[in-house]
Amino acid sequence: DKKLVVITGTSSGLGLATTKALLRTEKYHVVGAVRNMDKMKVVAEEEGFNMDHFTPMHLELASFASVHRFVEELDKFRGDRPIDRLACNAAVYQPTLNYPKWTEDGHEQQHQINYFSHFLLTSKIMPMMEGSEDARICMLGSVTGNDNTVGGGGVYPIADLKELVGLELGCKKPIAMMDGYNFNGAKAYKDTKLACMMTCNMLHERFHRSTGIAFSSVYPGCIAETPLFREKRPWFRQLFPIFMKYVTGGFVGEEEAGQRLFQVLHDPRCRKSGVYWGWNGGPREGREDSLEKGGQIIGAGGAGGGWDSLFENDQSDKVLNKDLMMKLWDYTTEITGAE
Ligand code: NDP
Repeated sequence: DKKLVVITGTSSGLGLATTKALLRTEKYHVVGAVRNMDKMKVVAEEEGFNMDHFTPMHLELASFASVHRFVEELDKFRGDRPIDRLACNAAVYQPTLNYPKWTEDGHEQQHQINYFSHFLLTSKIMPMMEGSEDARICMLGSVTGNDNTVGGGGVYPIADLKELVGLELGCKKPIAMMDGYNFNGAKAYKDTKLACMMTCNMLHERFHRSTGIAFSSVYPGCIAETPLFREKRPWFRQLFPIFMKYVTGGFVGEEEAGQRLFQVLHDPRCRKSGVYWGWNGGPREGREDSLEKGGQIIGAGGAGGGWDSLFENDQSDKVLNKDLMMKLWDYTTEITGAE
């Protein structure tokens, strides 16, 4: 029988490309957790999805109530089948805002959509994985959550949760940042990615042995063409993919990025838990100078980077900071009401 996969944000970009790859194998049934059901239906029709193997389900990550409703619907849908995979993929990126936008629960949008709601969702879905022989939970990290790399450590602003003072206070209006400092949209996004990666490590430590679930985070490469960059200014959207392709060599197409997330969900090697997966296309000619410490440059692997170039990427000291990880876990549990 088909394995049950839940992916958030399947109506565009990476989530969509990954779903296409999963459906092609005819080994999976994908539940697409989306905020806009009408858009998803149109996209599914355009892509010719086999609706026997794909179920769109409403999930608005900017609302904890919606997460609870989604989980109930999912539980009914699955019946006595276990969930085999969860990919926390949906995200928003709001780097040019100079004021925070808030969700109905009073959190800054990027924090709740990218991080808090996925934390809550994960806590609710884990028990539904009982009985799966190969359960995996994967979160989308980013090169920006890994400061061993050019993209993460070299480009201002840098992801940094500091002492988590904002999170400790509930990270609710008017507190827009986990570190408690003033709002910075680009940093808020990077902080959420760092938090997702740290959460994966924590999940691995706490639950891998007892549940058998494999927890990992992924950096699929810089997919400069997805709508994630929709909130950047038009000149940036036009030039950035070109810049990524020719200047940094770090551009990865949507299809290829989709293959990568698909691999993490499908490849037997990726049953391994506690890993931050990356793809290494090898240095391009004349570009060795930009490789650092065994990590990868922005989107390294854009040139080749296929199935065989999968590797266990280094994680920065920030991601591996145990004290901070415990605090992050406790405060986020309190904020989201996750058990
Ligand atoms: P897209 O903007 O194309 O996709 C994001 C998806 O999230 C969309 O389907 C969107 O829905 C959904 N979404 C946004 N807000 C909500 C919400 N409130 N509730 C439910 N769903 C929501 O971006 P990408 O495909 O590029 O990004 C996918 C993931 O990859 C993200 O986690 C991102 O951080 C990560 N990533 C991306 C990189 C890149 O270079 N693009 C690099 C590294 C990581 P809708 O279709 O309705 O807009």
